[in-house]
Amino acid sequence: MNVIMLGPPGAGKGTQAKFISDEFSIPHISTGDMLRDEMKRKTDLGKRVEEIINAGKLVNDDLMVAIVKKRLSQPDTQKGFILDGFPRTISQASSLDEILESMGKRIEFVIYVEVPEEIIVKRLSSRRVCPKCGRAYNIISNPPHDDDLCDVCHVPLVIRKDDKPETVRNRYRVYLDLTLPVMEYYRKRNVLFTIDGTLSVEKVKDMVLNVVGGIR
Ligand code: AMP
Repeated sequence: MNVIMLGPPGAGKGTQAKFISDEFSIPHISTGDMLRDEMKRKTDLGKRVEEIINAGKLVNDDLMVAIVKKRLSQPDTQKGFILDGFPRTISQASSLDEILESMGKRIEFVIYVEVPEEIIVKRLSSRRVCPKCGRAYNIISNPPHDDDLCDVCHVPLVIRKDDKPETVRNRYRVYLDLTLPVMEYYRKRNVLFTIDGTLSVEKVKDMVLNVVGGIR
């Protein structure tokens, strides 16, 4: 089962992608997590992208396509995968089509998690993430069990640098300009499923699993 999670930053794509990943035992491929991991390890790639990410801008398409192409060629994607944060531009979407076609695969579900801007800005200011596994929490609506510690890794949660309010607005603008057209791209293909991301994590989870559950 090959799935794409689409939606603005802070819509809950990563949280929901992890549920699908656990339920169907297929990898959750978050390009944001992959880049943050490179930054953490201070690799050449990490150093190259750090400034761009912290400013809330997009990393260039060719680089992102190369990263995703390499990841999709790994054997754990055989049964399927969930892409989270990719494609973010029309150019990335059409490159993804070419990559998948050459592998004899196609995207079956594009889940668009819809959340309005005011809620996004509020949510991201209370978002905390696990620096180890990337799980996201919200200190108001979805707090960890133990204050400030990841439920799974038990390490202290952190605030992402690009979750600062001024960067969030920038990311949202980039999303409207470059990523929203990607939604239309998939709508025309009849693979787009829109979900109300303002509902509780559990309700959104039920709806998402309901969408993808059909061909389990
Ligand atoms: P995310 O965790 O998905 O919000 O991604 C964090 C940041 O990583 C984004 O704001 C971009 O700077 C960069 N990034 C992640 N995925 C992509 C992509 N597909 N294309 C360009 N930049 C990306």
